[in-house]
Amino acid sequence: CQEEGTIFIRGKVAQISDKPKDSSEEGKLIAIAEDTLLGEGVRVPVDMVILCTAVEAREDAVDVGRVFGVNQGADGFFLEEHPKLGPLNTATEGVFLCGCCQKPMDIPDTVSQASGAAVKALSLATKGRVDIAPTISYIDPDVCVGCKTCIPLCPYTAIEFDDRRQISVVNEAICKGCGSCSGVCPSGAAQSKHFTKKQIFAEIGGIF
Ligand code: SF4
Ligand code: SF4
Repeated sequence: CQEEGTIFIRGKVAQISDKPKDSSEEGKLIAIAEDTLLGEGVRVPVDMVILCTAVEAREDAVDVGRVFGVNQGADGFFLEEHPKLGPLNTATEGVFLCGCCQKPMDIPDTVSQASGAAVKALSLATKGRVDIAPTISYIDPDVCVGCKTCIPLCPYTAIEFDDRRQISVVNEAICKGCGSCSGVCPSGAAQSKHFTKKQIFAEIGGIF
């Protein structure tokens, strides 16, 4: 590149200005920076400033998100559980995010996020147990007919098929209690704990 006339200046741009100081800067954008090798400030008049090269989510993010139960935004990047209440967390317990899988991110931010994710993973590992929500689903093994309708519809891949018993089984450590399986199950085998049809009808009966 340098043979072609490209000039590299090591430094960090502090400001982009459109206020010229002299005629050579008229009609230009001026990158104001410090040349960290020379230790002095520089003003570089330019036609165009490219602040950041474009970054897109990986094409296989859909497959990775599906396997680990991580949601994606409209732009394809992975989403945290909550930016303030659950930073680095995902919808799946024990799976944490850091770096450019969430959004374009520089190295210092990526390193600090990675440190945070490592600490969260370590605290789970040292605790030795996983707390699960009380409102998860279960599949009644005596009622399930093994049609597998529920398996592809679970957004957290929490349902597995037990080949030996020919029924579907909910992995309670992964289930988030979204209720999709109980909504589609034709036999009524999949139910949400504490929100069974019997309990809901009892609540309705109580209201009237
Ligand atoms: S409620 Fe059913 S569909 Fe939803 S996460 Fe749990 S097993 Fe999957
Ligand atoms: S949809 Fe219902 S009956 Fe079919 S496999 Fe799932 S739990 Fe069993």
